[in-house]
Amino acid sequence: MNGNNRHAIVLGGSIAGLLAARVLTEHFEQVTLIERDALPTGAEPRKGVPQGRHLHALLARGYQALVALFPGFKTDLLEAGAVISDLSNDVRWYQGGYSVNFNSGIEAVFISRPTLEWLIRQRVVALPNLALRPSCAVTALTTTADQQQVTGVMIHDRQTNEDETVTADLVVDATGRGSHIPKWLTQLGYATPEESTVNVGVSYATRLYRRTVSDDQAKALLNVPVAPLEKRGGGVFPIEHNGWLATLTGYQDDEAPKDEQGFLAHAHSLPAQEIYELLKNAEPLSDIATYNYPASRRRHYEQLTRFPIGLITVGDAVCSFNPIYGQGMTVCALEALVLDKWLRSATQQNQPRDSRQFFTLIAKVIDVPWALAKGADTVKASPNLLDRYLNRLKKVSQHDKVVSLAFIKVVQLLAPPASLFHPRIVLRVLLGSWRRDQAKRSLKTAWRTV
Ligand SMILES: Cc1cc2nc3c(=O)[nH]c(=O)nc-3n(C[C@H](O)[C@H](O)[C@H](O)COP(=O)(O)OP(=O)(O)OC[C@H]3O[C@@H](n4cnc5c(N)ncnc54)[C@H](O)[C@@H]3O)c2cc1C
Repeated sequence: MNGNNRHAIVLGGSIAGLLAARVLTEHFEQVTLIERDALPTGAEPRKGVPQGRHLHALLARGYQALVALFPGFKTDLLEAGAVISDLSNDVRWYQGGYSVNFNSGIEAVFISRPTLEWLIRQRVVALPNLALRPSCAVTALTTTADQQQVTGVMIHDRQTNEDETVTADLVVDATGRGSHIPKWLTQLGYATPEESTVNVGVSYATRLYRRTVSDDQAKALLNVPVAPLEKRGGGVFPIEHNGWLATLTGYQDDEAPKDEQGFLAHAHSLPAQEIYELLKNAEPLSDIATYNYPASRRRHYEQLTRFPIGLITVGDAVCSFNPIYGQGMTVCALEALVLDKWLRSATQQNQPRDSRQFFTLIAKVIDVPWALAKGADTVKASPNLLDRYLNRLKKVSQHDKVVSLAFIKVVQLLAPPASLFHPRIVLRVLLGSWRRDQAKRSLKTAWRTV
């Protein structure tokens, strides 16, 4: 390790921060993870991550990345009680119709968000060159006199009630959507990143229930609304300790319910009736938690022409996605892999670390999930050819396993969207919908002749 690889600091100890810290321990002599919350000793929800009570899907690509970062992580998950099953066979997936069930060979992990974060934290705090500073709020950046380089941070220790300066060769901001970096950049005389937003106005209501069926009999249920026609959705996942975690969602003025009666009524109104059938007799184990998410927001750090040396930002602080598509944690994991690559290449080439290069690299990771979420959330007056093709593809995937698998792989970030335009898939989509239309037409003719 060279002279400027002595100490790295990570701000924020949620998923993005923990995964960044894991990577940094391979490149720096010492890594300090600074978290504002007093961290619980076990797997519990906490103040700094209010979304933690709600259903969190881990996309298949994110699961792969976690296993790459923490070899043997599947065992950790299973020992903590996670339910791991087949992404198609064991999920009743409704999006304008039920998807066909078949053995996809792709594993799906069902676990509560606090337990997942706790498992990752256990792995990270066990790293010998990692120091965790809970109950410490970062209050400012420190820089060289010319403000060209970030040299560390000011923190307020909530336990001792003292302020302190912590110096570092690299500061990684992972403080989430509310990150102060844009404000601090302005104070240092830098431009702030442009922001792209997609107003979604989605509300969440979540409740934990007792599960009486075993892990291998439990099917996850998902009802993803087809925007803009449908405003309501929901999901029920089998999680650790024989739990069913049920989240109901609503778009815009059709808010997710806050009370027991409304909760069941909302479930009853969903096209995927299996959700209501499961919940109506299940025993609730918690109150109903709610969350309102206004808009997907992407900060385009990659477009800035000037940026201080020694600072980068990751996770929701860069891009926060409509949670319905379950992309956030997976993007954090992919960014951690990029961080590793970026640090490795700077060391190999014996070059100073260029933060703008890092932002260019993570922009490529963000582009696809951002486009997928934005495409699904953008209401178009008249769908173009591409939209019509994708709509057909989704319909055909309800009965065609090959098309369904191709679609699943794209949504799970395992394959690029271009794979949906492979001639084999295009043919099946066109033929599949033609066959269905033919069937409908012959049914109509048959009726007329009766
Ligand atoms: C309702 C909802 C449902 C979601 N569902 C899914 C899902 O199904 N699948 C999925 O992959 N993602 C989902 N997400 C997104 C996911 O929660 C985030 O992507 C994930 O938590 C990673 O975020 P992060 O680590 O960047 O930031 P956060 O999780 O927001 O964490 C930021 C951390 O920084 C700390 N912090 C903040 N300020 C300071 C400070 N000044 N000093 C020190 N520490 C500080 C906070 O305490 C916190 O620990 C969902 C989000 C929401 C809102």
